[in-house]
Amino acid sequence: MLFDFDGTVVDTVELIRESHRHATREVLGVDFDDARLVSNVGIPLMDQMVAFSPRHAQELLQVYREWNHRHTAELIREYPGMSALLAELREAGRPLGIVTSKARHVADLAFAVLPVRDYFDVIVTTEDTDRHKPAPDPVLYALSKLNARPEDAVMVGDAPFDLEAGAAAGCATIGVTWGFFDADTLSALNPDAVVDDMSGLADLLLAQ
Ligand SMILES: [Mg+2]
Repeated sequence: MLFDFDGTVVDTVELIRESHRHATREVLGVDFDDARLVSNVGIPLMDQMVAFSPRHAQELLQVYREWNHRHTAELIREYPGMSALLAELREAGRPLGIVTSKARHVADLAFAVLPVRDYFDVIVTTEDTDRHKPAPDPVLYALSKLNARPEDAVMVGDAPFDLEAGAAAGCATIGVTWGFFDADTLSALNPDAVVDDMSGLADLLLAQ
């Protein structure tokens, strides 16, 4: 069972949105609305910055990182019930993995604040593959580390990119609506399921 990280396992919605707001205000002098700020969350950060402004991407990245790292401990949160669900899945013997577009040292910042690292058998970060979500590569890499087959696996995520990557790898896919994207956006990708709360996700995963 593979999970996206931001907006799926940990609540970094405010942290990431406000990091983008700070960077785009500071560097570009513009005020984007909330939807625009987070529209590409889930792909590598540098690609998100290029989408704001190819010319200023490097500076955006630097200003984002500085603000983000300074506010991680204060703004990152756990989704209620996620730790309990992960513990239950582990107890049931399910191999668990994270597939994130984050850099490893940034994922480690989050793990230092929220102790969810130990639930997972593998953590795939942006350094592990040349291509990233929505390509299937990071999902396939995680499965190879778990000695698992795509047809026995499910990818859980809050972004279209997660569902596309999972489907392209040949996995079942579950969209969750407590992160950066709404149910309509996720349903448009035709995932196997879209769930609105933790108990809905638990029902699906524990039945597997
Ligand atoms: Mg996400």
